[in-house]
Amino acid sequence: MMEFLNRLSNTFYSGKTKPLAWRKSQLLALKRMLMENENAIYEALKKDLNKCQFESYISEYQYVLKDIKLFIKNLKKWSSAQKVSTPVLAQPGSSKLVPEPYGTVLIMGAWNYPLQLVLSPMVAAIGAGNCVVLKPSELAQATSNLLANLIPKYLDNDAFAVYEGGVEETTALLKQRFDYIMYTGSENVGKIVMRAASEYLTPVTLELGGKSPCIVDDKVNIKVTADRIVWAKFLNAGQTCIAPDYILVTKAKRAELVEALKASITKHYGEKPFNSDDYGRIINHRHFGRIVSYIEAQKDTLVHGGETDEENKFIAPTLMLNPELESGVMQEEIFGPVLPIVEVDNMSDAIRFVKDREKPLALYFFSNNQKNIDAVSQQTSAGSMCINDAVIFMVNPELPFGGVGNSGMGSYHGKWGFDTFSHLKPIMHRSFLADAPIRYAPYTSFKQKLFKLIAKL
Ligand code: NAD
Repeated sequence: MMEFLNRLSNTFYSGKTKPLAWRKSQLLALKRMLMENENAIYEALKKDLNKCQFESYISEYQYVLKDIKLFIKNLKKWSSAQKVSTPVLAQPGSSKLVPEPYGTVLIMGAWNYPLQLVLSPMVAAIGAGNCVVLKPSELAQATSNLLANLIPKYLDNDAFAVYEGGVEETTALLKQRFDYIMYTGSENVGKIVMRAASEYLTPVTLELGGKSPCIVDDKVNIKVTADRIVWAKFLNAGQTCIAPDYILVTKAKRAELVEALKASITKHYGEKPFNSDDYGRIINHRHFGRIVSYIEAQKDTLVHGGETDEENKFIAPTLMLNPELESGVMQEEIFGPVLPIVEVDNMSDAIRFVKDREKPLALYFFSNNQKNIDAVSQQTSAGSMCINDAVIFMVNPELPFGGVGNSGMGSYHGKWGFDTFSHLKPIMHRSFLADAPIRYAPYTSFKQKLFKLIAKL
């Protein structure tokens, strides 16, 4: 076993992480770490993704701070035992559900929200009383280094460790035994993680991705629809797991929507998005090349954008109209600032389009028609659904966040995160006061009759 894992598992065994006061102290330490290093965090995110301060504030820094606040406020309530009823057969007695931490949890994050995607699960794991090994993505190197530098300075080193590295290091780490693994990233690595976890029957939460469709119905406020889609798609230069991947729209509405999307892009990022302070860059040259190849393969379908700059890993907000459905851009998760618009005949066609593909992480539907809203929500499956907006549902910690089918399994955010990192242990407590002989052999016919009567109660 890796030496630091020994240390963490001894700490968990000692019971140190269980008292609420300790958990709270660690959450407060994490809060202090963020607040005292706010600028360093912005600098790291700028370096990794050219993330502007506003986006870094709302989707990373402030996002985690809010999580910490929510956990501190609710820790006592969420961690207390819940009483449940006890049937006559087990009377006198009482029953309750007691959340208990799993032990040492491995949290592996992706690079696109490199702070939030490891710290938000970590808040939940601490709140639930676990020790944590954090494995930030090596692709967001500045943020990974910053976390590896700061966490040991602020948090209890007996209970927390940051492990940095790439494929080789992660492969070695996954050979170790953990009590729970949460992985955020691609489907392929998700399978590697699940395979490794199966060796020890370690439970997993997999936060994966996929192509999140965005359906636009005929009667909508087109300007607001376009603004919301453009914001959600081009945030972080399209590198958001729940960004609308492609749009489905009817022929009738298509021209109006395309014009509104173009106007919205220009309004928010200017005539030359390269010069916008608020527009991100692609994480690395490999991903840059991948996205550029989507554009080059479907050049004839471009209706907006398409400019790229390799040196700066810049790709302009780009719109495509009816790219080939067999092309890369319509087969793989885009994870970049390219938005294909695909025409359908009607909403039934749109539903069929979604159902013919893997279950997405998010599904967006812009509509004012309740019948169509009901049809889309009842006939399609997705990790989450948002009507008349996109991405924004993430701000509600009352909603569990996670995928279904190929987009993942398990969920977190708010209380859902606490539950993910807790085993809900049922405890039945029987009394010695009475002990009805009815359940003991010999099972006479009188006992059987009486038992059937009681069992009905
Ligand atoms: P990534 O490359 O950062 O990988 C994530 C982790 O996997 C890293 O820690 C990395 O070291 C490790 N890893 C990579 N290859 C490995 C291998 N062969 N063996 C063992 N470990 C390995 O992230 P990514 O996979 O490029 O992330 C992009 C994907 O993540 C997209 O599909 C996106 O939709 C998804 N995503 C999902 C969410 C969510 O919350 N559901 C959030 C962000 C991203």
